[in-house]
Amino acid sequence: MRILIIEDESQMAEALAQVLRKDNYSVDLAFDGEHGLDCALAGIYDIIILDIMLPKIDGITILKELRKCGIRTPVILLTAKGEIEHKVEGLDSGADDYLAKPFQTRELLARLRALGRRSGELHYDNTLRFEDVEYNPYSLDLRCRGKTFKLTLKEGQLLELLLNNKMMILPTTTIIERLWGFDTKTEDNNVQVYVSFLRKKLKQLNSIVTIRAIRGAGYVLVKNEDVTRDV
Ligand code: CA
Repeated sequence: MRILIIEDESQMAEALAQVLRKDNYSVDLAFDGEHGLDCALAGIYDIIILDIMLPKIDGITILKELRKCGIRTPVILLTAKGEIEHKVEGLDSGADDYLAKPFQTRELLARLRALGRRSGELHYDNTLRFEDVEYNPYSLDLRCRGKTFKLTLKEGQLLELLLNNKMMILPTTTIIERLWGFDTKTEDNNVQVYVSFLRKKLKQLNSIVTIRAIRGAGYVLVKNEDVTRDV
């Protein structure tokens, strides 16, 4: 499950994200309304936790805009004390639930589970995993440590192949056949290019997983023992 938190109280948002990540949710954060709306419009989240009072664009406007654009992602509104009118307006504008601040984390977790069941948790079904990496071949989402990158189709196909053959050396010719077909003029250096794209993304995600080239043999997905991570 992938959650977007739009909340300008950054400490509170970070703390919340930490709790959710511990509970195996992938979490992205936005600290103002404009950035939040941009993220939410991508339509890639299972649930959005949305504060009402936000800099740049307020929560209710964001919610209305999302619904107007046909984005049906379940939204939990966070309301501060004395925002009863906002709460009513929010629910009218298509929010699925609301939570009054301050709230108990376990209360929020319960609401998330309820909404998650409703939205079907489709994103989880076909996830491939290796060490700290999760990849969903349908959404092309590569996740690691609470961050996510959208892969291109070819990058995704390559990663899927590697994940389905963990710790095995995949010959370059096999990779070319699987990604470009038999009748192809694709050369080894095309594979090299996509391998380097993927490596770069894994590195940016701070993953302990990398792709090792075995000279004259091919490529293998490995846990990189040499990596020093900044956590
Ligand atoms: Ca606020």
